[in-house]
Amino acid sequence: MNKYDVIIVGAGIAGITTGYYLQKFFPNISYKIIESRSDLGGTWDQMIFPGVRSDSDMYTYGFSFNPWQGPIIGQGKDIKNYLNETAQKYNIRENILFNTQVSSFSWIDNQWITETSDKSYCSDYVICCTGSRDYKAPNFPKFDGEENFAGKIVHTQTWGDTEYKGKKIAIVGSGCTAVTMTPAIVKEAKSVTLIQRSPAWIVNVDSQEKSSRLYKTFEVLIDYFHSRIFKKSYKKKVIAKYPYYNEGNIPAYDYWNQRPACSLDHDYFTSIKSDKVSIEHQEISSWEKNGIKLKNGKVVDCELAIMATGLNAQLLGGIDVMVDNKKININDTSWYRGMMFSGIPNFFAHTGYINFSWTARCEIVSERICKTIMYMNKKNLKTCTPKFMGKVSKPAIEANYVLRAMDKFPSRSYKFNNSNYLMEYMAFKWTKINDGALEFQ
Ligand SMILES: Cc1cc2nc3c(=O)[nH]c(=O)nc-3n(C[C@H](O)[C@H](O)[C@H](O)COP(=O)(O)OP(=O)(O)OC[C@H]3O[C@@H](n4cnc5c(N)ncnc54)[C@H](O)[C@@H]3O)c2cc1C
Repeated sequence: MNKYDVIIVGAGIAGITTGYYLQKFFPNISYKIIESRSDLGGTWDQMIFPGVRSDSDMYTYGFSFNPWQGPIIGQGKDIKNYLNETAQKYNIRENILFNTQVSSFSWIDNQWITETSDKSYCSDYVICCTGSRDYKAPNFPKFDGEENFAGKIVHTQTWGDTEYKGKKIAIVGSGCTAVTMTPAIVKEAKSVTLIQRSPAWIVNVDSQEKSSRLYKTFEVLIDYFHSRIFKKSYKKKVIAKYPYYNEGNIPAYDYWNQRPACSLDHDYFTSIKSDKVSIEHQEISSWEKNGIKLKNGKVVDCELAIMATGLNAQLLGGIDVMVDNKKININDTSWYRGMMFSGIPNFFAHTGYINFSWTARCEIVSERICKTIMYMNKKNLKTCTPKFMGKVSKPAIEANYVLRAMDKFPSRSYKFNNSNYLMEYMAFKWTKINDGALEFQ
């Protein structure tokens, strides 16, 4: 069996960040990144629908150790290239094993056995960088009569080579994906109907804006907390700033209950004024031969239905975790600093922020993981296991996909729950590794 110090699963932003910090803290470490796809980038390799881009500014979404040199909002393919270039620059790519699916982790005799579609691997530590989404099954709401629809239905997560030029299109959903996609397809489509249960909060970003990582960090977080504390006045301020909201587009939920979508140089606001675009604020009732029937009885005529209906959350890439031959139900565990689970030794997992750039959290968590391993090496300790403690977890943000998946996440969290970058930044940097919540042996 192949033996490494660390097995990492997933070669997206989290996997690349982890590889970088492991090499930085432990120049002689042996590690392997196991990735089921044929290329790196994770989200940015998979998402290829027209208009795909970041919503976060790239000052904070880029790596601090290899700052992004492009415009403030990154286009999907440019982010993918940037991740490739980073992995190449820091010799991380050569440690990635592609086209290999991990099926289980088993902790036996004080080490991890990782089973894959190919071989088994043995390691002292496992770091799970599998993202937050079910890669195989996106959120795909079902309505009666799907088999009657004569057109094509595609989910944005499985876009493939979908042809949309010259077609009558319906886009179902109002989140970030729908907002970035609409301006990208409107010119070449015959018509576009946006079907939205509730419009989303959308803010404009100037593509020429120049800023810095530090400034953006404070600006985004102040904006977030301001909107949480002064909910009503903040909402009023946003509504007053954009004429869009005065045209019947006020979302049914509070600002920042979900990540606000971004319109780049007003592209979304401009695109929906096109004669080709119409918006229906209605729920769907069923599929018809020629389109989608809404609950008010109207039928939206379309040849291509694009489901921009989001994701299904999944924490550990659908991988089974066994400790001493017992299968772990993650919902029965408590989450230690949003990076380890009670009762699972030497096992770390990344998740990012919904209210701040994902990459920023990957960096601070990676440093903390390395410091934990350093502490263990120094004291000659072999295992580190979080205790079962903490308060019942509440979601930091009420996005539908978070609420749908509460039973797939730990039921409790300990120390800070992962919703506040500045608090976590300080806690990860300055609190003791042996903080009373971990059991070392
Ligand atoms: C369209 C879109 C735009 C986004 N924009 C932003 C943004 O602006 N700001 C922001 O902060 N976040 C954004 N996000 C969230 C985004 O997912 C994260 O920012 C980030 O890319 C996640 O990186 P990751 O490495 O943690 O996970 P992923 O990118 O999901 O990568 C996980 C990797 O693990 C692999 N994997 C999973 N399971 C297994 C297995 N069992 N075996 C082997 N390999 C496995 C997958 O193949 C994948 O390559 C966006 C998401 C989408 C979909």
